[in-house]
Amino acid sequence: MRKVIVIGGGLAGLVTSICLRKAGLPVTLIEKKTYPFHRVCGEYISNEVCGFLERLQIFPDHVRPSLITRLQITSVNGKSAFLPLDMGGFGLSRFEMDYFMYQKAVDMGVEFILQSQAGAVRFEENKFLVDIEGASSMEAEVVVGAFGKRSRLDKQMGRRFLVKRSPYIGVKYHIQYDQHPDDLIALHNFKNGYCGINKIEEDKYNLCYLSARSNLSKSSDISDMEDHILSQNPHLKRIFTEAKFLFERPEVINEISFETKESVDQHVLMCGDAAGMITPLCGNGMAMAIRSAKTLSGEIINYFHNHHSREKLESNYGQRWRVLFERRLWAGRQIQKLFGSEHASNLAVLIARRSRFIADFLIKQTHGEAF
Ligand SMILES: Cc1cc2nc3c(=O)[nH]c(=O)nc-3n(C[C@H](O)[C@H](O)[C@H](O)COP(=O)(O)OP(=O)(O)OC[C@H]3O[C@@H](n4cnc5c(N)ncnc54)[C@H](O)[C@@H]3O)c2cc1C
Repeated sequence: MRKVIVIGGGLAGLVTSICLRKAGLPVTLIEKKTYPFHRVCGEYISNEVCGFLERLQIFPDHVRPSLITRLQITSVNGKSAFLPLDMGGFGLSRFEMDYFMYQKAVDMGVEFILQSQAGAVRFEENKFLVDIEGASSMEAEVVVGAFGKRSRLDKQMGRRFLVKRSPYIGVKYHIQYDQHPDDLIALHNFKNGYCGINKIEEDKYNLCYLSARSNLSKSSDISDMEDHILSQNPHLKRIFTEAKFLFERPEVINEISFETKESVDQHVLMCGDAAGMITPLCGNGMAMAIRSAKTLSGEIINYFHNHHSREKLESNYGQRWRVLFERRLWAGRQIQKLFGSEHASNLAVLIARRSRFIADFLIKQTHGEAF
């Protein structure tokens, strides 16, 4: 029987595996894709993770990520405000970031099962049986669910957040656009959505947006939606007209849900987006995935080294998860209400222009301390 199986190899799964290996525990990670690959993500990472990644010697400084210290918000009709970002962040593609973490995990001896999908997880007689599509099942003492915002495993496990259909889609491109300052992340509102742009590595920029599915239903396709809905914001119109788009077609995901989830479900320890997803405008999902990986791996190490009971492992992690993230997720959902409509986005710009105190307060509600 394996000690730990991690399902999903995004940042949550990779960092959990690295931390467990550092403590000498054997880990098997199952990932349905193979590295490197692109994901829908704004690719802005909050600096709160830097100290932790440096201490673990897994900070990807060799790719020279761009440093981001300012935020621009524009309203649906193009009004604009700038704010300094106290904590700041850096821009790096997931293609590079996840691949770098994967290589580090391989070097540390994590066992990878790639291009394989976990189809079911059962807990019986104090152990797990993980079914892998096209291969035989595996037994494990502990299973980490790091399978992201939405996986077929959620359905198989009958998770409650699926009951409510999500109205959002996410779209990502890499572009070249030298009109955008390197130290700036911009959030441009459009009707029923918002679009981020920031520099990543080399001379590339990430352009990523969250849109209500209804925008797409009213359009013939994504490009038509960008021409007729996103481009009503003059800042976005300029980007879509002048930038060079580097992908043949965009990366697209459906059904992005911000509903609350359980951090421990049917004894599976959930990590990253599988435990709860923060609204993308906060630019904090990756930092939360890494922070939850740190917290969870600490509890798993305690379980094995100090012979804690499973009950204690689950209740300690659940409690720590709630303290660290519950409020941030709630705040992110509330702040997202200021985005995506003409009236609310004008109010957001007004707050950013007139009250630095309120704007800073709102930003802090969705971020954690450096760790
Ligand atoms: C539009 C948008 C923009 C965003 N912008 C930002 C941003 O700028 N900054 C930021 O910090 N965050 C951002 N986020 C959030 C961020 O992308 C996530 O919070 C982060 O990727 C979570 O990492 P994770 O490891 O939990 O999940 P993921 O990175 O999604 O990884 C999950 C992995 O599990 C694998 N998997 C799923 N099911 C199975 C299965 N059954 N078997 C095997 N493998 C499986 C998947 O292939 C995937 O590799 C954004 C999100 C969206 C939707």
